Amino acid sequence: DSALYYAKDQGRNNYQYYTTTLSTKTPELLNLEKSLRCALERGEFTVYYQPQVNIATGQITGMEALLRWQHPEMGLVAPNTFIPLAEETGLIIPIGEWVLRTACIQNRAWQQAGLPPIIIAVNLSPKQFRQPKLAEIVAKILQETGLEPQFLELEITETTAIEDLEFTRTVLLDLEKMGVHLAIDDFGTGHSSLSRLQLLPLHNLKIDRSFIKELTTDVKVAHIVTAIVSLARTLGLKLTAEGVEKQEELDFLKSIHCEDMQGYLFHKPLSADKATETLQSQRFK
Ligand code: C2E
Ligand code: CA
Ligand code: CA
Ligand code: CA
Repeated sequence: DSALYYAKDQGRNNYQYYTTTLSTKTPELLNLEKSLRCALERGEFTVYYQPQVNIATGQITGMEALLRWQHPEMGLVAPNTFIPLAEETGLIIPIGEWVLRTACIQNRAWQQAGLPPIIIAVNLSPKQFRQPKLAEIVAKILQETGLEPQFLELEITETTAIEDLEFTRTVLLDLEKMGVHLAIDDFGTGHSSLSRLQLLPLHNLKIDRSFIKELTTDVKVAHIVTAIVSLARTLGLKLTAEGVEKQEELDFLKSIHCEDMQGYLFHKPLSADKATETLQSQRFK
């Protein structure tokens, strides 16, 4: 048996997993695992929503659902701490399904409140993506919640996508047939090429934050991002810049005609109530 540990990759917003034996699991980690097993039943999870904006129109076009765990003693536990653990223990399957359902219910509620329709983006972990009945589960949740499929976008990381490209293609084609949108998350960190990803039925590429961070300080990164943006356009893909924090980053992205963005410069992840208020206020703009 093995435990997953993660460490921040030097200078990148990207976590690598290290496998160690069970015997080295710290008491803290074992404790965390124990409380994670009960967290869903105890209702300790909530979903936050981070707006995705189109700077050409100034409108919010989507929201990314981001899981939050309010631990009774430890307070807010960051996803980068507990998601690897949920993945390793398999708890990510029920937790992930809960996030998907919660996010679909929320988007449907926004539509029923008369707000302009937006896309809800939901992250799928590697294990979730590889579960045998993923497409059926997604179909069931869409049916139960009444959300039309084109208002749901599923995100898988580039690393997950390229691990077994044939498998990925099969699953994505099933989802695509249903009408669900598909995004590649953390694009640029998986060292794949767009020519390989081009074989997949994708709608959106999300350039990883690590590139945006270096955009204005490293001319090579600026060239790479420029090339990715133009290639994405050639392939007819939407391209979203993740983690835009500074005006200079926005200015550069604007200059290369990258219009879709997500980042603290616009909005941080918001509670459902705050997200609703934000959508309501932009309706009157
Ligand atoms: P991610 O999918 O790449 O999500 C984006 C992360 O970047 C979020 O962190 C978000 O809060 C953060 N972020 C957005 N804009 C900025 C910015 O301008 N600056 C900085 N510094 N950060 C920004 P968060 O919510 O802590 O989530 C971390 C990761 O945990 C996510 O990365 C995703 O991999 C995972 N995660 C979160 N929720 C879920 C979930 O429901 N299911 C699964 N499987 N994974 C999830
Ligand atoms: Ca994501
Ligand atoms: Ca990402
Ligand atoms: Ca990430």
